[in-house]
Amino acid sequence: MSKISKTLFSAIAAVVISSLYFPSVNAGYSLKGDISGDNVIGGGDMKLLQEYILNNNTLTQEQAERADVNSDGCIDSFDLALAKKNLYSKLDKLPQGTWIADGNEGVRYYNFTNGTVIDQTSGKTTDFSCDASSHNLNFNKNIFADKKHAIFSYSSEKALVLRWDGGAVETLHYYGENPIDYSKLIRSGKWTASGGYGSREFSFSGVSGNYTDSETGMGLAFEYSVNGNKLAFRMGGADNSVTATVTSVDSTHFTLTWEDGTTENFTRQNSVDYTKLIGSGKWLASGKNSYRVFTFSGTSGNYIDSKTGMGVAFEYSADEENLTFQMGGAGNNVNAVLTPIDSTHFTLTWENGNVENFTKQNIEKRNGVTYVNGILIANKTYSLPSSYNPGALTAETQAAFNRMKNDAAAAGLNLWVCSGFRSYSYQDQLYNSYVARDGKAAADTYSARAGHSEHQTGLAIDINMASDAFIGTPEAKWIAANCYKYGFILRYPQGKQDITGYKYEAWHVRYLGTETAKAVYDSGLTLEEYLGIDSVYQN
Ligand SMILES: [Zn+2]
Repeated sequence: MSKISKTLFSAIAAVVISSLYFPSVNAGYSLKGDISGDNVIGGGDMKLLQEYILNNNTLTQEQAERADVNSDGCIDSFDLALAKKNLYSKLDKLPQGTWIADGNEGVRYYNFTNGTVIDQTSGKTTDFSCDASSHNLNFNKNIFADKKHAIFSYSSEKALVLRWDGGAVETLHYYGENPIDYSKLIRSGKWTASGGYGSREFSFSGVSGNYTDSETGMGLAFEYSVNGNKLAFRMGGADNSVTATVTSVDSTHFTLTWEDGTTENFTRQNSVDYTKLIGSGKWLASGKNSYRVFTFSGTSGNYIDSKTGMGVAFEYSADEENLTFQMGGAGNNVNAVLTPIDSTHFTLTWENGNVENFTKQNIEKRNGVTYVNGILIANKTYSLPSSYNPGALTAETQAAFNRMKNDAAAAGLNLWVCSGFRSYSYQDQLYNSYVARDGKAAADTYSARAGHSEHQTGLAIDINMASDAFIGTPEAKWIAANCYKYGFILRYPQGKQDITGYKYEAWHVRYLGTETAKAVYDSGLTLEEYLGIDSVYQN
């Protein structure tokens, strides 16, 4: 007996040590009582155990480990009694509560009370119903790959083995009565802990995890459950429970106070999944009454608030589900969940609940003409080629103006086109005459250089008179309040000269179509701000 006990002890020691160095939930969940190793505890196993205790046979090291049912390091009549108790009290009993399974399908969470099984990796939930009779679990659908039937055996009240048709095996250990509350779990990923236990690295994934002591390299696998602010950890095995109280600081920090009074401060590590980073370049973000232009480049970026012109630089990281921004510097962390729509659209839901819709800024040139997200742009940055010549206002622009003119007339106001389409060469003469009269600097504030005039697009109109005398007239006020309804925007509003490049022009409207015009009007932004572009001559 002493020889076997010693062998057995070293076998158990090997299991404990291997779980320390190579954290694995599997370690320690061999099917106790299944001496023959066929994944079913039955009369044959009882016979083997009984014969062994009577010194009538020998056991291999592996069999001896499974024969030590109460895990006390020796094989005796207590093990036989316990094995028999497990065998006869549990044979037909359907498991209840939540169980963690390990097998070929990866880690899965069964809840037999509710009839759900959740895949840890994908989070996919499958509902099932099942019944149990003499070792057999019959599910109403395929639960394990293409199988719906398994033979089950308990090795203790908290350990269970399912042997599926075809021979695949899942080992289950008991997690708790209640289903897993995912909203209360610690965010998956890597966390650094510092405090009374020194420096430790924790990894959480669902209800599973492991930690490694940074100095010794030793660690343990664990599962944990959440009850209010208490976490119950099962360290290295189902029966080794340690509780801790969690105090949440923010989404990347929390504190655990272990039951022995030791506290540890946890900080989430920024693990960057480069495939999850946002595409470099500019993105236009709009939310509830907010407009921001984000620029992303690798893990850095910045945003500028289109209304205030203020901005902040940031670093950010992306993992499987979250973006973590360090706004303006370390320590100022803000989290957001990204929901992809397509390659040029996504939404971010910030941790305060605000949602922003992101659209990739797309600047493309077709035949020398610049389109920003599909909108033709002519300003001081983006010019038109001399060959671009629609010859007149576009038909759509003219028709929209006519409708606006009619409605204004009904309100007792007279609108007419003072200046509509202007060709490249006409603009060239016009601009040069202003330069000759007022000088280049002054001319640039009210007249466009050739190729840079919006009038060359056939989409812009000066209404009634291109003069400051028009400002404040009933017609000017009516246009400002109503032109968006006809698809126009006031292109050069008051106080936006630094952005549009032009002083206030109460008479100059630009046709965008009713949908875009209303969106720009509602934003309160200039077209440059709305599209995240500038308007500055390059020379
Ligand atoms: Zn104009």
